[in-house]
Amino acid sequence: MPTYEKILLKNMDTPGYTGDLAAYERAGGYQAIRKVLKEHKPEQVIEIVKKSGLRGRGGAGFPTGTKWSFIPKDPSRPKYLCVNADESEPGTFKDRQLIDRDPHQMLEGALIAAYAIGAKVAYIYVRGEFALGAQILERAIAEARARGYIGKHVFGSGVDIDVWVHRGAGAYICGEETALLESIEGKRGLPRAKPPFPAINGLYQQPTVVNNVETLANLPHIIARGPEWYAAIGTLKSPGMRIFSVSGHVKRPGNYEVPLGIPLRELIDEHAGGVRDGHRIKAIIPGGASAAFFTPEHLDVKLDFESIAQAGSMLGSGGVTVMDETVCMVWAAYNLMGFFHHESCGKCTPCREGSSWLHHILHRIEHGEGRDEDLAQMERLCGNIAGKTVCAFGDAEVAPVLSTLKHFRHEYEAHIRERQCPMGEHVGATHASPLPG
Ligand code: SF4
Repeated sequence: MPTYEKILLKNMDTPGYTGDLAAYERAGGYQAIRKVLKEHKPEQVIEIVKKSGLRGRGGAGFPTGTKWSFIPKDPSRPKYLCVNADESEPGTFKDRQLIDRDPHQMLEGALIAAYAIGAKVAYIYVRGEFALGAQILERAIAEARARGYIGKHVFGSGVDIDVWVHRGAGAYICGEETALLESIEGKRGLPRAKPPFPAINGLYQQPTVVNNVETLANLPHIIARGPEWYAAIGTLKSPGMRIFSVSGHVKRPGNYEVPLGIPLRELIDEHAGGVRDGHRIKAIIPGGASAAFFTPEHLDVKLDFESIAQAGSMLGSGGVTVMDETVCMVWAAYNLMGFFHHESCGKCTPCREGSSWLHHILHRIEHGEGRDEDLAQMERLCGNIAGKTVCAFGDAEVAPVLSTLKHFRHEYEAHIRERQCPMGEHVGATHASPLPG
């Protein structure tokens, strides 16, 4: 099995590592922020991160340094950094591990980012269900504050950076950056129409950067080892390491840190141990529930932003879910649509109503009541949702439907023809239809 030098998971995989401040400093932590404060102006830090090629690890993959450079230099406007720790994409559990096992790594990254954009305050927006993670972060912040690393004159410099934890209430959509801002402001977490973008009018209508946990965790390493080192890992357009959360029918589910650009096959077969014995791969979600399904034909696709997009899906959150031949793909689409229907914030009609109808139609197909016209009807519905909504959730919710219709249409047709699911009852299936009739 190919082995790679771990970067983000290195500390936590060291026997005896406790993740507290003393352990982090023994491992070389908080040296990068010291270096930044001593040697670099904020604009130089932005240039270093641009040069590294680091791209956002939350889903969209936008270049981090470029995002920071959109923040206006106007000193009269306060700036904010918001850390997106609302990891809720089904099949994705990497940020949670980074928070639980090595919180200071991300905190140091947040301090570097806040300094670069001129923010005196950073909010860490933690998913409501991550009660333990929120406690761990509070403890880590208290440790860093007591040492003078957070608050006034951090590390004895003239720079003030405060950091606060803000817990969400468990809504998936609050991982969308503008809904996250609304939620921090104490409002219902509904996405805002863009533009204006957060860099201009973000939190409290002030310039704001929203960065994902894994993105920030990369920063101390980029500063310490240089942007050229980082840019040399992975591919030209997708540099660096990436943590993939592998789940489903594999022998060793878990988080794997590998260079961007390795083949999907290597991740599944070598690192995650391959599909369980006596079974074969039927379908793969390569980047969280919002990503279109792949089939075994896609196993040689490279895991980088460009290659996955070219093959018709997306790298997204890095959540790779493997399904073997025991999975009914109509049931899988129905199950995922149940999630999206439940999590639609309801702000815009195509998503609110469309997710309900798609779930309803999938329910009846899965339960032997499908109609001949249902497949065309679902395609029409998807066409009226994708690209026609306030946020990207609309595109996300149609991906499982359209990709199963594309790759597994024969399974839908068999359900309708045989008036039942050919694979029988499914464990964990929800039978609640969202609509009558
Ligand atoms: Fe809300 Fe869905 Fe519209 Fe996004 S697309 S704003 S989640 S209703």
